Amino acid sequence: MKVRKKDFFNQIELSLSAISINESLARSLVGTAVSVLDPTVEELADLRCAVSEAVTNAIVHGYKNGSDAKKGSDAPLVYISVRLYTDRSVRVEIHDRGVGIADVKKAREPLFTTDETGERSGMGFAVMEAFTDELRVYSREGRGTRVVLFKRFKEENVLAE
Ligand code: ATP
Ligand code: MG
Repeated sequence: MKVRKKDFFNQIELSLSAISINESLARSLVGTAVSVLDPTVEELADLRCAVSEAVTNAIVHGYKNGSDAKKGSDAPLVYISVRLYTDRSVRVEIHDRGVGIADVKKAREPLFTTDETGERSGMGFAVMEAFTDELRVYSREGRGTRVVLFKRFKEENVLAE
C-alpha cells in the first residue's frame, strides 16, 4: 500500500511535553483526529496502540525519561503530525529531538531492548509494525528519532438502515 503524498485533505500538528501522562493523551488525540475517516473499533485500537508505543519510546528512550530534562519552555517535546488522506489512509509521524538510535535495524528486531531495568520487553517496534501497514524509522545519534506510521482503513462501513 503506497500513500501518495499530495492527497491528504487534513493535517493536524501537535506538540506535547515529554512526560508519561502525555502517552495516553497522545493516543486519544490521534484517535480523535482520525475519527472522521470512520475506522472500525479494531482499526482505531490498533492505530492508538502503535502511536502509544512510539510516543512512549520518545519519552522513555529519546529523552531518557526526563533524566536530563529542563523545565518550562526548554523542556523537551514530542512532536506529532497526523495527515488524513482521501483514500481513508492516515500517516502519523512521531518525532523527538532526543538521543537518537545508533542502529535502527537492530532496534527494530523483536525483543531487542537497551532497557536494563527489566521493565521493557523490546516489542514496541514489533507492535507498531504489526498494527500498521507500513512503519518507517529515521534516526541520528544525538539528533533524535522520527517514526512514521501508515495505516489504511478498509472499505467504508455500511451502516445498517
Ligand atoms: P517495549 O517497547 O517492549 O517496552 P523497548 O522500548 O525497549 O521495549 P522497542 O520499542 O522495540 O522496545 O525499542 C527498541 C529499542 O530501540 C529501545 O530499547 C531503545 O534502545 C531504542 N529506541 C526506540 N525508540 C527510541 C527513541 N525514540 N529514541 C532513542 N532510542 C529509541
Ligand atoms: Mg518501546
